[in-house]
Amino acid sequence: MLRDLVACERRVHHDLHGDPALRDKVSSFVEMLWSGGMAHEAEILGGVADGDTIVDLRDVPLPLREGATIAAMRSPTALWIAGDRIRHADLLGMPDLIHHPSTGDHWRAGDIKAGSPFAPDRIRPKPEYAAQVGLYAIILEMAGMGDGDAAFVIGSDGELAWYDLGLPKSKSGESWAQWVDRLVVHARRIRDQEAGTRGALSATCGLCVWRTVCRAELDGADDLTLIAGLGRGIRDVLDRVAPTVSDLAALDVAALSRAGGRTDIVGLGASRPQRFQDKARILRTPGATPIARQHLELARADRELHLDIETDPTRDNIVYLFGILERIGRHGPGERRFPYFFAHDLAEEREAFARSMEMLTADPAAPIYVYSAYERTCFRMLQQRHPDVCSAEDVEALFAKDRTIDLYFDVVLPHTDWPLNSNSIKPLAKYLGFKWADADASGAASISWFDEYDRTGDPAVRERIVQYNHDDCVAMIVLLDALIDLPVADPPAWPPARVLA
Ligand code: SF4
Repeated sequence: MLRDLVACERRVHHDLHGDPALRDKVSSFVEMLWSGGMAHEAEILGGVADGDTIVDLRDVPLPLREGATIAAMRSPTALWIAGDRIRHADLLGMPDLIHHPSTGDHWRAGDIKAGSPFAPDRIRPKPEYAAQVGLYAIILEMAGMGDGDAAFVIGSDGELAWYDLGLPKSKSGESWAQWVDRLVVHARRIRDQEAGTRGALSATCGLCVWRTVCRAELDGADDLTLIAGLGRGIRDVLDRVAPTVSDLAALDVAALSRAGGRTDIVGLGASRPQRFQDKARILRTPGATPIARQHLELARADRELHLDIETDPTRDNIVYLFGILERIGRHGPGERRFPYFFAHDLAEEREAFARSMEMLTADPAAPIYVYSAYERTCFRMLQQRHPDVCSAEDVEALFAKDRTIDLYFDVVLPHTDWPLNSNSIKPLAKYLGFKWADADASGAASISWFDEYDRTGDPAVRERIVQYNHDDCVAMIVLLDALIDLPVADPPAWPPARVLA
């Protein structure tokens, strides 16, 4: 529950108090993560210690697990206990492992995870993991078996990473342990229905079983997170002056501005409320169409390359598909080719990377289009993994602004507004009339298909993966053509003759 609380407090509310009949189906991607996580856990546990020092409780029936864990902790020889269940008062933890370090009298608990134990800075703990293992530390301390100072995570590489829970989590000086304590208090208040909770439309919702319920709630509340790019953090400060999309559309934004580009609202610069207000007005104006805020300087080229890649974060981020849709000719649909490079393992990934680099660099006059910085980030990662393919400078030159145009970060996000709740390629291309061949297509679905293809070798599944990648590239062409024609205009006048509810 604490882990979910880090991602979304509303999730905890619905899990405890929601009507289970209203849950959406668990996605195939989430099911794949579960089974992949269990396989990874079994693999790690197989190599963690010899049979004399590990007590494995995973086959002990759940109701007996708590007693078995306590008994194992009293064993003079056990240094590791797998598949545990620990409890103190209303706190329950199910650590994958409890460890008795050779020094000191205390036990320490942790989990086995398929991802890195660390945040993107590679130093700080991942908050959702820290919440979970931090709770184990609290329980062990309260039960007199631990000191509450540390917990661990064994990540995808099999290395044990310690979390020092006494270190500050934030600039306020609050430690990780204090933060977990606070989460526990909040969880209890949600359990006892003393604390209100709010959902927020975000990428996390896509894989959540409460997405249909929450979408109805957010629509009903006219929640500010319905505005593309406006997340929970900004919502929670902006809603003091404008609690709904319609309120924001009508707000006197100029009155918020203060000297130096600031506003009265902590954490919000003067330009942002204005931008969000423009988006709110487009959302709430009947018949509003997308607009460009300035000339976008986009044009068809004699030859264009539309690049999209698929990666699997559960398998060392292998790039299993490089798709490059080539369009030749400045008018009409143009002549199109779709070379793609598939990879099952890192050796094939090297080959696919090399062939993609070859194709992308062959004609320096052909602009390359991507949607988001993901391709650039992955090509940097690939260059480090396969340094014999090209140099770091080659990758930087490929993604330089005079060669590659990121339609998301360079164009859509800063310079356009749409009557949509998201700036992702899917809603934009669908708005423009494009349909993916596969109605269930998504990045997450593609990863679960790749897993299925890896297990079954079914060529139809492979074709499904390639078709999805192809359609993503076509969606980019559809969007590019629409952006070229997008009128430069001001947001609609407010109030409109009729307001969309
Ligand atoms: S759908 Fe979104 S807002 Fe609702 S519980 Fe899930 S993550 Fe939270």
